[in-house]
Amino acid sequence: MDVLTRRARMRGLATLWVPGIDHAGLATQVEVRRRLAREGVRFDQLPRDEALRALAAWKDEHELRIQEQMRAGGFSVDWSRYRYTMDPASRRATREAFVGLYRAGLVYRGERLVNWDPRLRTAISDLEVVRSEEDDELIVARYRWADGAPGGIDVATVRPETIFGDVAVAVHPDDDRHRASVGRTVLVPLVDRKVPVVADPAVDPSFGAGALKVTPRHDAVDREVFLRHPGLATPEEIFDEEARLVGPWVPEAFRGLSREEGRAKAVEALAAAGLLERRERYRHSVARSERSEAVIEPRLSTQWFVRMAPLAEPVVEGVRRREIRIHPERWSRTFFRWMEEIQDWCISRQVVWGHPIPVDYCVACGTAVASVEPPTECPSCHAREFRPDPDVLDTWFTSWLWPFAALGWPERTGDLERYYPTSVLVTGRDIMFFWVARMMMAGYRFTGNAPFSDVYFTGMMRDERGRRMSKHLGNSPDPGVVIRERGADTVRFAVLFPNPTDEDGPFGDAALDGARNFLTKLWNLARFTLLQLPPGTPAPAGPPELSPASALANRWVLERYRRTAEEVDAALGEFAPSRAATALHGFVWHDIADRFVEISRDALAGRTGEPARRESQASLLFVVERTLRLLHPVAPHVTEELWHALPHDGELLALAAWPQPGEVSADPLAVVEMEPVLEAVRLLRNVRSEEEVPADATPRGWVRPAGPETARILSAQAGTIARLARLSEVGLLGPTEPLPAPVSSRVAPLGECYLERAATSAVRSEALQRERERLAGLASKARARLADPEFVRAAPPEVVEEHRRKEAELAERIRKIDQHLSEPA
Ligand SMILES: [Zn+2]
Repeated sequence: MDVLTRRARMRGLATLWVPGIDHAGLATQVEVRRRLAREGVRFDQLPRDEALRALAAWKDEHELRIQEQMRAGGFSVDWSRYRYTMDPASRRATREAFVGLYRAGLVYRGERLVNWDPRLRTAISDLEVVRSEEDDELIVARYRWADGAPGGIDVATVRPETIFGDVAVAVHPDDDRHRASVGRTVLVPLVDRKVPVVADPAVDPSFGAGALKVTPRHDAVDREVFLRHPGLATPEEIFDEEARLVGPWVPEAFRGLSREEGRAKAVEALAAAGLLERRERYRHSVARSERSEAVIEPRLSTQWFVRMAPLAEPVVEGVRRREIRIHPERWSRTFFRWMEEIQDWCISRQVVWGHPIPVDYCVACGTAVASVEPPTECPSCHAREFRPDPDVLDTWFTSWLWPFAALGWPERTGDLERYYPTSVLVTGRDIMFFWVARMMMAGYRFTGNAPFSDVYFTGMMRDERGRRMSKHLGNSPDPGVVIRERGADTVRFAVLFPNPTDEDGPFGDAALDGARNFLTKLWNLARFTLLQLPPGTPAPAGPPELSPASALANRWVLERYRRTAEEVDAALGEFAPSRAATALHGFVWHDIADRFVEISRDALAGRTGEPARRESQASLLFVVERTLRLLHPVAPHVTEELWHALPHDGELLALAAWPQPGEVSADPLAVVEMEPVLEAVRLLRNVRSEEEVPADATPRGWVRPAGPETARILSAQAGTIARLARLSEVGLLGPTEPLPAPVSSRVAPLGECYLERAATSAVRSEALQRERERLAGLASKARARLADPEFVRAAPPEVVEEHRRKEAELAERIRKIDQHLSEPA
C-alpha cells in the first residue's frame, strides 16, 4: 500500500491513505475470554459493563501496537483521518446502512439453519467455518417397524445422539431395496416415537444402507427434506446453546449431556436394546469454528440476514465491465465462482462486542422498528416502551462500508466528493469474500459507484520452510520486533524482493540478510558517488550531455538506467512491486556498483583526462540520484537520507518528482557494444574460479574474437576486461594466430577466451594446498559432530540434514582440489 501511495504522491497526484482498524468483534471476544480464563475469571459471568471494559482495554492495547507498527514501518498514511469501526461516525454509518437495507426488504429476520459455535455461543458466517477430514465412527442402528412386524430399516449415522430429534427416515425414490418401505412407520430407537419412511431425492443411496435419519433442526439436507414433506411433525430443539442435550424429546437419562457424552451413551443404549447393527471407522469432512475450533452445530435459530443476490448482481456486472479490475487477473475466476453461488449473509451475532442491531420491539404490541436513532414512539400503537434486539452485528457489516464510511458517508463530505470512488485496494486474497466482495456490494448499493477501480491481491508471506504463517504454528514474526531489530527499509525490501512473481514467497532471516546487504551496497555506492564529486556540484536537472567520444560505459549506464526506470514504472503500474524491486536490485548492484564503477575507475580518478572525468562523474550522479527516486517507495528512509547527502533540488525526496520515462533518449547500441565486453569478463572469471586460480594471482589472458565487429569492440575495451577479470593484460588474437602459452579456454558466441596456466601453476598449487588443509579441518569438525549420537538425537532434523549436506559438499571440494593437484601444470 505504501509503495503505491508513495509513487502516486511523487507523480503529483492528490494522495490519501486512510488508516484505521476494525473492532474484530468475535476475535476480540475470543482473546479476552482466553485472557480472563487464565486469570480464573469466566467472561460469561461478568456484568455487561465490566465485560465491555475488558474488551475495550484489549482493543486499546492492540490498536496502539498496530499504530506503532505502522509508524515504525514508515507508512505514509494521513493520521488526521484515522478511523475506528466503533467510533460515533461508524456507528451512524452502520445504522444508516442497516435501516436502508431493512426498508428495501434486503435484510430480514428469519429462522434458518446457522453455523452455531457452541463454545462461543454465537452464530458465525459460512466463511468462518473450516472443514477438514477427520476420523469418526459410523453407527448403523435398527429402526423397527411400528406395526410389530419383524425386522425394520437400518440407518447409518455418525451422530447417534441426534436420534432424539428425528422426524422421519428417508430413502431415495429409485432405491429398489427400500421401495416397499416408503409409507410405512418405524420407531425411533431408544424413545419409540413413531415416524414415517419417506422417499426423497436428496438421499445418497450409497451411504450406509441407503436410509437417512431426518433431523431437521441440526442438518441442512435434513431440513430441506423436512420442508419438502409437509406432513412431518414439527421438530423440537434437542440441544441448548452449549450443545447439551435438552428438551421434551430427549429422555431424562440423556438430558444435560454434551454431544460426546450423549454419543457414547446412545451407542451403549442401542447395544443394550439390541438395535446396534454395526459400528465402523469412518473418515469424513468435519466443520469447525475458525475462532474457537469447536465442532460446528448446525442449529435452527432466528437470525438477521442480508439478501445477497440483488446486491451481488451489480458487482458481477461491474467486474465484467472492468469498472473494477482484479490483479493478478487469475483471481477473478475464484471471485466470479463465489459470486455466482452466493448465499444470504447471517449478520447477527450473539456476542457483546459489536454494534447493536438497530431494531427495537414495542413492548405493548411487538412491532419491530428499525431506525438510525432509537425510536421514541411505536408507529402502530403509539406506546413509548421498547425492548432492544439482543444481538449485535457482524463486524464485517461495518467494515464493508469502509471505502466511503471512512470518508464521511452518509454525510456528503468534501473528502467523499474528492476521493470517492477510491483508486486502489491492496489486500490478501484470504479476505476476498469476507471483505473485498462485500465492499463492492456496499459501494454499488449505498453510493451507486464501485468503491475502487483496482483490487490488488498481494502474494502471501510464508516462512522459510514454505509454510503459511499462522498464530497456531507460531511462525509469524511480530512486525514491530522485526522492524526494531532489522530496520524498516530492510523489512520492506525483504517482503518484496525475493518474490518477483508476486506469488507467495518465503520471509525470514535469509530474505532480511539479502535486503540488508542490498541496502548496504546502495549506501556504499552513494557514499562513493559523493566522494567523486567536486564541491558545489549542482543537482542533476537532466541526463548529462555526452560528447561523441564519451566512454562506452557512460552511454551504457544511461541506457541501462532508462530501461530500469521503464521496467520499474511499468511494474508498479501493473501492481507488481516485486518486479520493480528486482529490477532496482539488479541495476544498483550489478550494473552501477559492479560494472560501471569498476569500468570507470580510471576515468573517475582523472587518469584519462578532465573531460572524461566530468562525464563519468555526471553519469554516475545522474543514475544514482534517479535510482534513489525510483527506490524511494520501497525503501523511503535510506533513500531520503542519501538523497539529502547528495546534490539535490527540493525539500524532501518523498515530494520529489517521479522520474519521467522519456527523460533519457534510447541508445540501444550502447548495450549491444557492451555485451561482448561483459561476456568476456564473465567467461574469464569463470575460468579463474573453475581452475581455482588464487585471488591474488594476475595471469595473462587472450580473446580470439568471432568476427571483425566483435574484434573492434573488444580491442577498444581490452583494458576494461583485464581489470574486471583481474588479469595482468588481455591480448587480442587473430583468427589463426597461435597461442603464446599453455592455456585453459572457454568458447562463447563472442569467440574464444584463454587464461594462461603455466605462469600461475606454482602459486596455484601452493594456494590449493592451503585451501585443502582448511577444508579438511572443517570436514573433520562436521564428521565429529555427526558422530556424536547425542547431537543427532537432540538437534532438529533439518539441522542434522544441514550438517550432512555440508560434510558431503566439503568432501566434494577436497576431491576436486586433489584432482587439480595431480594434474601436470
Ligand atoms: Zn406498539
